[in-house]
Amino acid sequence: MSAPAPLHDLQALLAWAQQSGEDAHARALKALIEENAQLAHARQVAEAANEAKTRFLANISHEIRSPLNAIYGYAQLLDRGDADTAGKAASVIRRSSEHLSNLVESLLDMAQVESGSLKLARAPFRLRAFLEQIIAMLELQAGAKGLALTLDCPPGLPEFVRGDEKRLRQILINLLTNAIKFTDHGAVTLRLHYRNEIATFEVIDTGIGIAAEDQERIFSPFERAETGDAPRAGVGLGLAITQALVQIMGGDIRVESTPGKGTRFVVRLMLSKPLMPPADPPASRRLNHYLGHKRTVLVIDDDEAQRALLKSLLEPQGLRVLDAGNARRALALAEEAQPDLVLLDVMLGTDDGWQVASTLRDRHGPALRIIMLSGEAGSAGAAHPAGPANDLFVTKPFNVDALFDCLAQQLALEWPAEPAFSSAAANADQAALPARLAADAASHLASIEQLVKIGHVRALEAEIAALAALGQEAIPLADQMRRKLDDFDLPALATLARGARNP
Ligand code: ADP
Repeated sequence: MSAPAPLHDLQALLAWAQQSGEDAHARALKALIEENAQLAHARQVAEAANEAKTRFLANISHEIRSPLNAIYGYAQLLDRGDADTAGKAASVIRRSSEHLSNLVESLLDMAQVESGSLKLARAPFRLRAFLEQIIAMLELQAGAKGLALTLDCPPGLPEFVRGDEKRLRQILINLLTNAIKFTDHGAVTLRLHYRNEIATFEVIDTGIGIAAEDQERIFSPFERAETGDAPRAGVGLGLAITQALVQIMGGDIRVESTPGKGTRFVVRLMLSKPLMPPADPPASRRLNHYLGHKRTVLVIDDDEAQRALLKSLLEPQGLRVLDAGNARRALALAEEAQPDLVLLDVMLGTDDGWQVASTLRDRHGPALRIIMLSGEAGSAGAAHPAGPANDLFVTKPFNVDALFDCLAQQLALEWPAEPAFSSAAANADQAALPARLAADAASHLASIEQLVKIGHVRALEAEIAALAALGQEAIPLADQMRRKLDDFDLPALATLARGARNP
């Protein structure tokens, strides 16, 4: 393509052609000027996209580097055998890994939204419990900044509504975490109106606000308002994903804001009432104490660290765990030990995990349960060409509880009926918390009591870890709590928390 002629030359020529009555020339010149303007616009758009990409890459590497640096630093301290930092290291490493995995999830969500392949689920869920759970998850974060976080729901809400609970949670958490992030004083409120099956959620804060000229732009990927406040900046994907999700759900989102006063995001979507109240799903539970013989699991992964991780997660759950780092060893071990279940990585170094799965299926039949593990979310649907040899596909990083649930379901595990809870028994072995830790521990203990009510296992684990990180003297109590949580004995866990708060 020839370089466009300078615009002023073309315009001078056009003026000359018009004056001299050269109509054909004038028309050709007009078309050329028009084409030139379009080219200039396309170049501007491409340059802006390139700039946004460069800015995004710089942001994203910052987002990856900081948690990675924390993990790397603490891992080195642990390597040196620095026992004092073990509790702190565990919680920093855990938080940093969560951040990294959230980041990866956001990027995958973004890719799914852009390619139009995002699928919505529609299932009934308890509306009020769902909102209370979100508030409980974020209470600590808001409390740490001295902000009040409140839920404002009208009476008479339907108990169940139908929708994509996971995506709706993602929308509300995105808006609420932004509200907390951009507010230094005052309050953050989640308000719900529900009429004619239309739910209107408002996330209201008393924060820094958003200038009128930024209010449209912030919904575009990688765009952030000028806050002049670098530490608050994120990657700039949250609102883009939120808006896309709301629109895919057939709803709309808008923002009203006054700089210096605060912001209100309003999301409207249809959440219909189910015709029949659904049966409650079974509570998530740990594997140990299952009935029957000890089950054997074969872990096949070329990465030794992954094998060690799965071993240390599964062995305490009462499972016999064998492991193999390549296909040859895996097939031999399966022959010899006749495992009940195989956890198999798709990328097995030079071997192909799918091939191993289909050989195992041929040799051992459907009684051997096969769970494929992969770091590549995209390969979930890409079953082996000869047909799906596997029973389930799980993406890494996996949530430990979710993995346990998958194992329990695949192995068809059963448990004895829950023993009746005795608060006297729980109190008898209550570990004492020294007075100097009482003040620091109070908020964690209060959250534990709160989270028990909604059965939020992951948040409970995080709170117990935070309690353990307060110091050596808190560890016996945290250990007791962890055991109760492992047994899914939530009332006993609440009693331990209450007992430690009011000794
Ligand atoms: P991120 O928070 O990662 O930067 P988002 O897409 O979630 O990305 O938000 C984009 C921008 O919108 C933020 O960087 C911020 O400038 C602005 N913003 C979002 N929510 C609020 C809020 N409640 N108050 C003030 N500014 C906000």
